Amino acid sequence: MDCVFCRIVAGEIPSDILYQDDEIVAFRDINPQAPVHVLVIPTEHIASLSDVTGEQSGLLGRMAAVANRLAKSEGIAEKGYRIAVNCGDQGGQLVPHLHIHLLGGRQLSGKLG
Ligand code: 5GP
Ligand code: ZN
Repeated sequence: MDCVFCRIVAGEIPSDILYQDDEIVAFRDINPQAPVHVLVIPTEHIASLSDVTGEQSGLLGRMAAVANRLAKSEGIAEKGYRIAVNCGDQGGQLVPHLHIHLLGGRQLSGKLG
């Protein structure tokens, strides 16, 4: 298994895990771009957003719900935060395992690209 996020799910690479169930894991980004920077991923290996099928669309909603809950527990829900999904090369995706970035704790730039 050479996917870094699959290895985090398997416990082979240590990470600061904030949430875990059978379907979803959330952990702190190793190179945070904001005071709060959490990654929310499916335990199943899905390479990118463009690989999500219609049957898996509920999974994305549950990942967003986990991100929203963590925004509350991390204390950034009230002031505001961003969730982002990078998809593919030009979308800036470096790790080919679907993930939602949860960013907050400072004023984020209005620029998206
Ligand atoms: P992408 O550019 O693919 O959307 O974002 C990948 C994110 O994964 C980056 O923000 C990067 O810092 C994070 N990341 C890469 N490898 C690891 C790791 O081994 N552990 C953790 N916690 N985060 C990682
Ligand atoms: Zn994977």
